[in-house]
Amino acid sequence: MKVAVIGAGWAGCAAAWRLKTQGHQVSVFEASRHIGGRARRIHSPNLGRDTDNGQHIMLGAYSVTLGLMGEIGLSESSRLLRQDLDVMAADGRFRLRNRSLPAPLHLLAGLLGAQGLSWSQKYKMARFCRWLMKQQWRTPAGLTVLQLLEQHQQDSHLIRLFWQPLCVAAMNTPIEQACAQLFAHVLRDSLGGLPQASQTLIPLTDLSQLWCEPALRDIQLQLGHRVQRLELTESGVQIDGLQFDAAIVACPPVQAARLLQSLPSTPASEQLLADLEAFTYIPIATLYLELEQAWNLPHAMLMLDDTNGSGGQWLFDHSALKPGSGETLVGVVISDAVRLQALDREHAIAAIIEQVRTQTQHLKAMPAVRASELIIEKRATFAAIPGLRRPAVTTPWSTIRIAGDWTDTGYPGVLEGAVRSGLKAAHL
Ligand SMILES: Cc1cc2nc3c(=O)[nH]c(=O)nc-3n(C[C@H](O)[C@H](O)[C@H](O)COP(=O)(O)OP(=O)(O)OC[C@H]3O[C@@H](n4cnc5c(N)ncnc54)[C@H](O)[C@@H]3O)c2cc1C
Repeated sequence: MKVAVIGAGWAGCAAAWRLKTQGHQVSVFEASRHIGGRARRIHSPNLGRDTDNGQHIMLGAYSVTLGLMGEIGLSESSRLLRQDLDVMAADGRFRLRNRSLPAPLHLLAGLLGAQGLSWSQKYKMARFCRWLMKQQWRTPAGLTVLQLLEQHQQDSHLIRLFWQPLCVAAMNTPIEQACAQLFAHVLRDSLGGLPQASQTLIPLTDLSQLWCEPALRDIQLQLGHRVQRLELTESGVQIDGLQFDAAIVACPPVQAARLLQSLPSTPASEQLLADLEAFTYIPIATLYLELEQAWNLPHAMLMLDDTNGSGGQWLFDHSALKPGSGETLVGVVISDAVRLQALDREHAIAAIIEQVRTQTQHLKAMPAVRASELIIEKRATFAAIPGLRRPAVTTPWSTIRIAGDWTDTGYPGVLEGAVRSGLKAAHL
């Protein structure tokens, strides 16, 4: 078949790769000049180098993405730094590490050995996790993460120290709004799985190079082509006047709705368009800092205390990612960056640098900052709230599929969900 894929984010690239390996003739249309969508390489004039549009991490539980990389022939060890789960606060107030024991003992041992929590708090956490396991990770419908935690006697210290940062990092949605059921899925696939599932994988290459560019190497690709019009024909679908047998629309909901609204209308298509309109979005910011010299912190990834709600939550020292490389880049991640967005940029950058400097001072003095780049992705992910209707990849039109992290993946807006949806759309 002759198949078009619209959008070269992780969902579109996964779909294109799968279609190609199945012997179909694939054309990819991408509106921007780059491959990778919301997880891509950019050039930063301020830093004078390439970097990513935002610091990303993957989990060992991202089995489908990791499997796909293997299929493409890419070695994991040269592209990703895999480490056991080690949630360590930069200021030393908290640490939770996974122990190398069979599941679920690794989780229990990790919880019991956590630093910064009282025995009663550890007991409450262990009891809550045990309840989730017994429930097979199913929570009552319509609950937010905060409501669920409060129902299970997780006190405010525990929530602020552990659950809140984990929820915002995993779902990019504040704990008062985030969907408890999706959060339970995240816990099931990471903490509740085998110890490898909770390992973190930090990219060592830029995000476009990680696998999307190699995957699209032999595929017809039109960069800078923003598709304007889809039309159904007797033999398939026309895309801006070009004829295909089928198409996968792998754009975010707003753009997907724009393309799909011109197709013949049915009650099911009206519902689909209404579902696409109902998504709301939350920004993520990354502050990249170029230091005067490599920092060489003992850990590549450290948790920051963001009690005031507009600072960074995670610090990534790229010199610790590649020991001995002399790398001078540092990334600070600000999820749920709604408040940060409203601040004056220079002021926000200075405040985050000060936050990082203060919270790491007992580890190793931070070298002077030579340059900075604050990137705010306004529609980084959809708000993962209870009751959100997420469409399946099938559509009311038999020659059209949709794909993206926002489809009904069972995950919040994450890379693994995007890849899974792309593969599923290609399969169907
Ligand atoms: C700053 C940031 C940090 C993140 N951190 C993490 C993380 O640590 N871990 C994690 O798992 N996830 C993270 N995410 C989420 C992750 O990046 C997304 O889930 C994933 O990239 C979504 O991929 P996608 O293919 O579904 O959509 P997209 O990446 O949005 O791809 C859609 C593509 O369609 C193109 N397009 C749109 N309209 C058209 C058109 N009309 N014609 C042609 N092309 C079009 C767009 O240009 C885009 O390239 C983060 C996201 C951001 C922004």
